[in-house]
Amino acid sequence: MSETSHRGEIAELLTEGRVLKPSADFRAQAQYADPEIYARAAADPEGYWADWARQLHWFEPWSEVLEWEPPYAKWFVGGTLNACYNCVDRHVFNGLRNKAAIVWEGEPGDRRTLTYWDLYREVNRFANALKARGIGKGDRVAIYMPMIPELVIAMLACARIGAVHSVVFGGFSAEALADRINDAQATALITADGGYRRGTIIPLKHDADYALRTTPTIRHVFMVQRGSFPLRVVEGRDHWWHRAMQDAEPYCEPEPMDSEDMLYTLYTSGTTGKPKGIIHTTGGYLTGCLATTKMVFDLRPTDVFWCTADIGWVTGHSYVVYGPLAAGATIVMYEGAPDWPDRDRFWQIVEDFGVTIFYTAPTAIRAFMKWGKQFPQQHDLSSLRLLGTVGEPINPEAWMWYYETIGGGRCPVVDTWWQTETGHLLITTLPGIHDMKPGSAGVPIPGVEAAILTEDGQPIGKGGGYLALTRPWPGMLRGIYGDPERFVQQYWSKWPGLYFTSDGAKRDQDGYYTLLGRVDDVLNVAGHRIGTMEVESALVDHQSVAEAACVGAHDEIKGAAIVAFVTLKAGTLPSLDLEGELREHVARKIGAIARPQRVIFSGDLPKTRSGKIMRRLLRDIAEGRVLGDTTTLADASVVDSLKRQYEEREEAG
Ligand code: ATP
Ligand code: MG
Repeated sequence: MSETSHRGEIAELLTEGRVLKPSADFRAQAQYADPEIYARAAADPEGYWADWARQLHWFEPWSEVLEWEPPYAKWFVGGTLNACYNCVDRHVFNGLRNKAAIVWEGEPGDRRTLTYWDLYREVNRFANALKARGIGKGDRVAIYMPMIPELVIAMLACARIGAVHSVVFGGFSAEALADRINDAQATALITADGGYRRGTIIPLKHDADYALRTTPTIRHVFMVQRGSFPLRVVEGRDHWWHRAMQDAEPYCEPEPMDSEDMLYTLYTSGTTGKPKGIIHTTGGYLTGCLATTKMVFDLRPTDVFWCTADIGWVTGHSYVVYGPLAAGATIVMYEGAPDWPDRDRFWQIVEDFGVTIFYTAPTAIRAFMKWGKQFPQQHDLSSLRLLGTVGEPINPEAWMWYYETIGGGRCPVVDTWWQTETGHLLITTLPGIHDMKPGSAGVPIPGVEAAILTEDGQPIGKGGGYLALTRPWPGMLRGIYGDPERFVQQYWSKWPGLYFTSDGAKRDQDGYYTLLGRVDDVLNVAGHRIGTMEVESALVDHQSVAEAACVGAHDEIKGAAIVAFVTLKAGTLPSLDLEGELREHVARKIGAIARPQRVIFSGDLPKTRSGKIMRRLLRDIAEGRVLGDTTTLADASVVDSLKRQYEEREEAG
């Protein structure tokens, strides 16, 4: 391919037009198998979403489905409901009392199963424990917990009394916790003495104590006793969860919430900069979560649904808690690391619990690939019937591995594009309707409309551009906590009335959207715009490469020179020969224009704690700058060693 190749052609070449069909078996039993649903929703999106909303229990009906004064949306105006009631009580009263709601495994191997009735009892009591301490409607409650059932109970108890939860990922530092508490002016904190991760104890309460020195708004702290980890108790402020539960009344009336009352705030991952405290409200959010869980995951009553995301991220909010529980599903929750005590832990859990739907992130899939097939192959994964991915673009190579090795070539894969801001997934395929194109997410779900635009808002038919959402959807963010200006500035100022996603995408002749990476990450080489995703996919396509991240370093002549950071598969060693081979491999796959100038081998890549590659830090390294905000970085030593390595390379010429 010539140097002048168009970037649209580049991506096509990479995916090689691979199209896979979900099996006839899957299609025959799929619940959403009629493509008419798209046309119906497009003709009357408000009616379409209202039909979904009617599956929820409303105390008072809404008077208007949507009030849209860009950029402010109100869904199900005037309706009142309670998210906890919809996730718990509704099922208890509808015959699911003894159905397992949560099947949980701790990292040390301890297990608990909570039926919907158990969940109901626990949530009611904890709601009363909060209320007894004066916490109520509109109060903000920070939650800093390991992945244990009490985390779900705490969130639902907040929702029951109308308090706004703000979950902070348990892997964050005391400082990050303090920032988030102060931003939300939270009056209570729910935590635990600790949790297990890779065999060690994460002392959450101990860490939280540091945060609590600088968080004057906190009046009450609840602590779950997960182990018997040492901690300090401040009389009057700190309460053991189990004691508070003993003293609490068994029933708490669910608070009727306005559809637009705040359900929670949650911070974005911080991949591109300072995290934003995203606001989600009740009626629209729950409707979107319920609809997408049922439709995209083809959920049926017998399913065992495992979304592996930590609840500290939006994926955990929407697809561990609110979506599946609103749908009355059985969810699996696991506390610890995927490689503890060995690299087959996830597959052990799938086998033991008979997981049918498995939803994880590309970063995890690439780690599984790196570790090798032998780990999943030790287990019976035949219960699985559907796989999903979310969080980053998935390169076709990893997609195929997932499909074949985990799904046995039998399970459709849904690649779901969405953001903390969007509340629920928005672009994907419906497994009973669509063919799958590895590396391409699919189409906007029914009732959602997207577009690919130029800088000045002109639509692009084919080829790459900015991904925009062109009509309001129920789970959309309602603001950034405490920063209404940033809300308008960040999402709504590029093109009036249209939502700017910050992601680049292209669309093919079938209307499938392929995500090209963050707009900030797009490479501009000698006037050609190349998606980081495209070069990375070409690299990962090489048999030795496990993971790759590309950035453009400033280059006098070309504008940007591509620098590739690469981790290798187990058993492969870095060498100059391999570097040359990889550079040629990319040139062959995409064209000489995309040949990386440098390949830097690394044991790991800098990632957010949610597992996303932080290319902006790699850019800082490649351009010799001081590193930007690193507060959401998972492992600071990774960037330090990369920086050193890069500088040594530079000196050596
Ligand atoms: P920040 O906004 O703070 O920089 P972040 O964007 O990583 O952090 P999230 O809301 O967790 O925070 O991630 C949403 C982003 O993840 C999307 O904008 C997109 O870039 C990426 N993403 C999510 N799912 C997919 C997917 N299926 N395909 C491609 N990209 C995806
Ligand atoms: Mg983002």
